[in-house]
Amino acid sequence: MSRQLRRWAAPLAVLALVAWYGVSRRPEPPPAVETRFLMDTLVSVTLWGTDRADAPGRIGVAFEALEAVDRAMARKEGTPLWALNRAGGGILDPATAEVVSASLAWARRTGGAFDPTVAPLIDLWDVLAGPHPPPSGGQIAAALGRVGWERVRFAPGPPARVDLGGTALDLGAIAKGYALDRAAAALRAGGAADFIVNAGGDLVVAGSKGGRPWRVGIQHPRDPERFLRVVEPRPGALVTSGDYERFYEWEGERVHHILDPRTGRPAGGCRSVTVWASRAIDADALATAVFVLGPDAGLALLEATAGAEGLVVDAVGRVRETAGFGRVAPGAAGR
Ligand code: ADP
Ligand code: MG
Repeated sequence: MSRQLRRWAAPLAVLALVAWYGVSRRPEPPPAVETRFLMDTLVSVTLWGTDRADAPGRIGVAFEALEAVDRAMARKEGTPLWALNRAGGGILDPATAEVVSASLAWARRTGGAFDPTVAPLIDLWDVLAGPHPPPSGGQIAAALGRVGWERVRFAPGPPARVDLGGTALDLGAIAKGYALDRAAAALRAGGAADFIVNAGGDLVVAGSKGGRPWRVGIQHPRDPERFLRVVEPRPGALVTSGDYERFYEWEGERVHHILDPRTGRPAGGCRSVTVWASRAIDADALATAVFVLGPDAGLALLEATAGAEGLVVDAVGRVRETAGFGRVAPGAAGR
């Protein structure tokens, strides 16, 4: 070492130490977060490690993707889906075609537990209207007469075309998942690698939070103050269907929004179902289907479905999960 360098060695070492200490002690930059009310729920987009200046633009693009799906596929007066139902069929835009095609595939795969033609039953039960007497057996039978995914004829085109065969579509159990996938794709296209998009507890996760896994809570189905479990999901989607968000009590019975197309009544086998899959569209459809099928058949379906794992809270509160759920959504250790 030269004399010159030796003279500076000690102060340089101190300086390096101070710099290292400063870096290691500097609080982590807060992630960029934006929340909006959309698709009847609070949706938040969280980005990690993005240049502050870029964050609003990137997040805006993700919200545009979510809003576009909602505008096309919500069953509200004036949307293209609403018009399609009124016309009994017609030409589909490419995004709606993708969701309808996936819906019919999941209906077939789940033996109709997931059925995108439940619209007449949803309207009949009208759970969002609040407490009122449930429909009669006769009314349920009449609505069931207009339900049945097998009557839908879908031609992929292009342009894709559908003939509803006297049924009407409700994509409420799958469109949110598709919207999450579109938001994730928009974020990736904009160069983001580390993010989480959370639509009322249904989420897509990518990358990490500064090298550490993202951490999320799974809602306890009977205690809103508690998490059932806190997990660190692998990149992909984690979606929950439950009987605790849209429901009312009537003469001791819980009337909620997930209907069993076999009976025309709210499905009774589960309190909540959480599904992990690489795509949110699949996790969303599966969560609803497993909820309808109940814990035994539902878990069997998940075990038989490659790339999907899940956790079920059954009707008495017992928690059961697929053999691989802990691999894709390990419980978070304290840190
Ligand atoms: P959430 O709306 O809480 O995300 P889901 O993904 O389970 O929960 O979707 C529930 C919605 O799906 C209902 O509001 C209704 O529009 C629709 N739906 C209800 N039962 C079924 C079913 N058996 N198959 C397909 N869609 C359904
Ligand atoms: Mg669903």
